[in-house]
Amino acid sequence: MSNTENTKPIFPKGDRTSSNYFTGSAWVKNLVPGDDVLKTVIGNVVFEPGARNNWHRHGGGQILIVTDGLGYYQEKGKPAQLLRPGDVVQVPPALVHWHGAGPAQSFTHIAINPNMQDGVVEWLEPVTEKEYMEAVGG
Ligand code: MN
Repeated sequence: MSNTENTKPIFPKGDRTSSNYFTGSAWVKNLVPGDDVLKTVIGNVVFEPGARNNWHRHGGGQILIVTDGLGYYQEKGKPAQLLRPGDVVQVPPALVHWHGAGPAQSFTHIAINPNMQDGVVEWLEPVTEKEYMEAVGG
């Protein structure tokens, strides 16, 4: 169990994410806004227990670096993967997926979105309670 019992989070919590694209409470702190030279957007995302984003895809792909807590990553049609601090996920361009916290622990990752000229994110439908519980083995 990690979750900042003895250490302060590296980044500020940032802004509450939109309930249009997230279930539960999550926050995003923009770290790199993206520009025409590096073409990469980077944010730190904090999910409260049970919080997750909608199904979505990234035209330019995505890299997730887990820094705290316990969470899940699921590609459409595949079993979810449990994620712990130190795990790194490479999400191919256009692949439908979601990520978020486990039911009982918060979860923090850095989200790197390269190739922003190919599209940063396209949001799809929410991960239903049934889909979520199946993913987390509940
Ligand atoms: Mn993603």
